[in-house]
Amino acid sequence: MRIVDIRETAIPLKSKLANSSFDFSEMTTSVVAVITDVIRDGKPVCGFAFNSTGRYACGAQMRERFIPRIMAAAPDTLLDASGKNLDPDKIVAAMMRREKIGGDAERSIGIGTIDVAVWDAVAKIADKPLHRVLAERFSGGKVPDQVFCYVGGGWYWPGQTIKDLQDEMRRHLDAGYTLVKMKVGGLPLDQDVKRLEAVLDVVGSGEHLAVDANGKFQRDEALAYAKALAPFKLHWFEEPCHPLDLALHAELASVYAPSLATGENLYSTQDVANLVHFGGWRADRDIVQVDPPQAYGIGQYARTLDMLAARGWQRTSLLPHGGNQMSLSIAAGFGLGGAESYPGVFGDFGGFADDARVENGAITLSERPGIGFEGQAALYKIMRELAD
Ligand code: MG
Repeated sequence: MRIVDIRETAIPLKSKLANSSFDFSEMTTSVVAVITDVIRDGKPVCGFAFNSTGRYACGAQMRERFIPRIMAAAPDTLLDASGKNLDPDKIVAAMMRREKIGGDAERSIGIGTIDVAVWDAVAKIADKPLHRVLAERFSGGKVPDQVFCYVGGGWYWPGQTIKDLQDEMRRHLDAGYTLVKMKVGGLPLDQDVKRLEAVLDVVGSGEHLAVDANGKFQRDEALAYAKALAPFKLHWFEEPCHPLDLALHAELASVYAPSLATGENLYSTQDVANLVHFGGWRADRDIVQVDPPQAYGIGQYARTLDMLAARGWQRTSLLPHGGNQMSLSIAAGFGLGGAESYPGVFGDFGGFADDARVENGAITLSERPGIGFEGQAALYKIMRELAD
């Protein structure tokens, strides 16, 4: 068997939302199709992925370097030991040829997105859902039938009132979620605290609420927010400062007792090792949120988990960023703490299978082979057009 073609295209997300630092009006994502010569139901098996949300499309690197390197490799050198399926690690190794060490973010998103599309194809060829393939390979075969899922919401948008924000949170609770997240840092501290108190009125207590500053704060503001937020005992305080300001992470971890979270802007296992080694991240309470398609993909994610396990971290402390079926499959397959959800935002790229149900904060998984994009009609239409 072999890969016949790899295609990519950039699609706008068409979002009006903003976090503390930027708006999403120009945001795009790369959709990838890995087309194989394996035939199922009269059609070639295709693996699909997109580069999650929050980083722009990265087609240039894929077209100029990663796709040509895969297509130039002898097809047999990209197969697993059975010779009947692809070996994702060998495909990543082909993409990494002639790449200098470091500078990970320049390439980790393109490589990670292609890698996740390869895994989608691998699971389809095995005729299993991706979460089952991952559980068998990386989690002792433990296959859950649901995954804890929280809402990444509470965005700022033009003309929004506090009542609008409360209504949004009520919708999330009514939809079956038990943990919601809201943005902070887009308004002065006193106004952000008013927003937060209004949301707490809806969700009941701090254990049902997390906040996300999207890396905006310098030291003084980060410490001021930490002091103001601590009494609310929130589920976590996410990205309080620049993701690589490890000294400030460590300082915050030394003064802020509840949980901190970060990781969606870390792109390598070494970045995460630095966070826990130098950033003071606490294995007994803090959260790591690496987004696998943006950080070299699933094989690298497994190595990050191994690195963390060696330092005393449980997999339940990991909740991948992304709010999509890729992160959901990965959370289920590796037995992580849960997944994020973006109901009603990011258009066709936010959300899960059309028939997924949320109950008591957990989302159901499907038995569709692969990641399951076939069960997400609007997104699958985009993917199918790329492959056909
Ligand atoms: Mg975030």
